[in-house]
Amino acid sequence: MDDCIFCKIVAGDIPSYTVYEDDVVKAFLDISQGTPGHTLVIPKKHVANIFEYDPELASQVFARIPKIATAIKASNPDIKGMNILNNNGEVAYQSVFHSHFHLIPRYTDHDDFKMIFKDNSDNYDEESYKKVQKSIIDQLGD
Ligand code: AMP
Ligand code: ZN
Repeated sequence: MDDCIFCKIVAGDIPSYTVYEDDVVKAFLDISQGTPGHTLVIPKKHVANIFEYDPELASQVFARIPKIATAIKASNPDIKGMNILNNNGEVAYQSVFHSHFHLIPRYTDHDDFKMIFKDNSDNYDEESYKKVQKSIIDQLGD
């Protein structure tokens, strides 16, 4: 992908603060450093988002994340936890369309990262949960 910034990082045409690399993934510091140590893990193969992974690529990429996450956590005794995020589609805040996983170390509950999940359970009853459940199951097949 000629115009993909992360493919250029994989190719070495754009510099990055790489922390880990093998034949499948590259992990490098996110330029924004949302919190110190904020790292991106990307497959070297260009896939735009989670919907383009096949099971083999998924298992290879996901298998590498715990080791990188554990190294980041061990790198600083102030890191108490970590959010791992994968944004898919513009509506989900994806801005670079080469799939990537954000590893965001957490220091305190008032550091520079926030996530809001609204609790909409008051709007649901058994019937509406089951309708959503069925609509997804129907797409999964056997
Ligand atoms: P997302 O919004 O989930 O697509 O995340 C894209 C991330 O890529 C952002 O957090 C950016 O800070 C980061 N980013 C963009 N360009 C670079 C770059 N050249 N090196 C490192 N991180 C980058
Ligand atoms: Zn790419």
